[in-house]
Amino acid sequence: MQIDIVSVFPEFFDSLHVSLLGKAQDSGLLDIATHNLRDWTHDVHHSVDDTPVGGGAGMVMKPEVWAECLDELLGLTAASTGVTPEKTASEKEKTTPSQSAAEEQQQPSGESLPGTVLIFPNPSAPLFTQQAATDLSKKQRLVFGCGRYEGIDARVPQYYAQRGVETREYSIGDYVLNGGEVAVYAMIEAITRLIPGFMGNPESIVEESYTGEPLLEHRQFTKPATWRGIDVPPVLTSGDHGKVARFRRDEALERTSRMRPDLIEKIETAALDKADRKTLIGLGWEVSSTHPRKRVPSPKHQ
Ligand code: SAM
Repeated sequence: MQIDIVSVFPEFFDSLHVSLLGKAQDSGLLDIATHNLRDWTHDVHHSVDDTPVGGGAGMVMKPEVWAECLDELLGLTAASTGVTPEKTASEKEKTTPSQSAAEEQQQPSGESLPGTVLIFPNPSAPLFTQQAATDLSKKQRLVFGCGRYEGIDARVPQYYAQRGVETREYSIGDYVLNGGEVAVYAMIEAITRLIPGFMGNPESIVEESYTGEPLLEHRQFTKPATWRGIDVPPVLTSGDHGKVARFRRDEALERTSRMRPDLIEKIETAALDKADRKTLIGLGWEVSSTHPRKRVPSPKHQ
């Protein structure tokens, strides 16, 4: 997989050369290149930002410099636009709010550069999930654009999507960072460890949180069996593989029910075995419809 990262702080990514990511680059599984956005500026100050149109605090990253950089990295020429023509004012008037929302949600086809995805971290975008990481781990090339200040001019992702480049924006959580670098780092770690051949032991990514099913993992322990007066759960030292598997599964269901009930609601009830259902019922879930639902306590038990 080829990964390009554009940032005004490319040195932030120096540590991508250590540990498993470093090994994957040494073995040729990954090719990561960082680029300084300021290399595409033309003024003496190498400025990449300007004041927000419409007023307000902070600065916004200029579309021209981003486009010069991304056109070059993606091998697109500014002349061969192929951009979907802008809607005329009267066409815009006829667009209903639901049409605009549908257009915004549309996944670009990626017909211009098959296998390439352009990704912008953005706190006001859909959440980056394990499912997104899995999907992106199958692509040939990822190009990340790290925002700073108040973010990148919104026309930049719109423009590349219109040019047929598969373009996505992701938030890594409901909080605001200073820049996109940390978010891109997190996404790269989550994506690359799913590439076949990346992990020394591929089994280690099979039974993790969020993988396959939307469940948090059971707790993990190592030796000694008793440490500072705290024992590991005795079943784990019993040697009974069936009992160990059931204990871990029940613990995963219990922890998810307690900490992330929203994930339990996403489980397909049909995928649950008899013992899973019994555990969930005991945790206060109804398992009669397509997805588990939290039982509403009857008034006399409240
Ligand atoms: N004005 C933006 C807002 O309120 O939504 C915040 C901009 S933030 C200070 C600057 C940049 O950091 C963003 O353009 C984005 O690249 C990155 N960023 C900040 N928080 C992020 C998050 N939770 N997920 C992904 N990227 C984030």
